[in-house]
Amino acid sequence: MVITKDICFTAETTLGKLAKWLRILGFDTVYQAGVSGDGLPDPAGKNRILLTRTKRVRDRSTDHKLVFINSNDPYEQVREVLQALGIGAADTRPFSRCTRCNILTRQVDKDAVRSRVPDYVWETNSTFQICSRCRRIYWPGSHIQRSYDIIKQFFETGNI
Ligand SMILES: [Zn+2]
Repeated sequence: MVITKDICFTAETTLGKLAKWLRILGFDTVYQAGVSGDGLPDPAGKNRILLTRTKRVRDRSTDHKLVFINSNDPYEQVREVLQALGIGAADTRPFSRCTRCNILTRQVDKDAVRSRVPDYVWETNSTFQICSRCRRIYWPGSHIQRSYDIIKQFFETGNI
């Protein structure tokens, strides 16, 4: 059993899409353009699992908290991470985190977002989440349904 809240990642530069998907799944994932391989920053001071595609980094590492990514396909990369760490669907918290800021979103009053979202969105949704850093509003829209479909496939066998 994986304790999801204890799992956090640092992804190197070439793994931006993977990092985004890990955030969508609810994992604290640091990703910074221009930073790669070793010497990655760790702003939260956490013991992050390094995601790397750099053989040099893998071979030199004495730290077992590293997942080496083989695939070029972002979806396949997500699977590699999930499988390497034994993470199951129940261990994830999809859409709990701002994909831009990497911080947890919080529920916000429907009335408070009246002027912040399109009318039809406000009328057809009852729950809204907000990122307290960038103020982006999240709601269960159609793009989320598509994302759910993709997430389901992360935990199924076969190709996406
Ligand atoms: Zn944000």
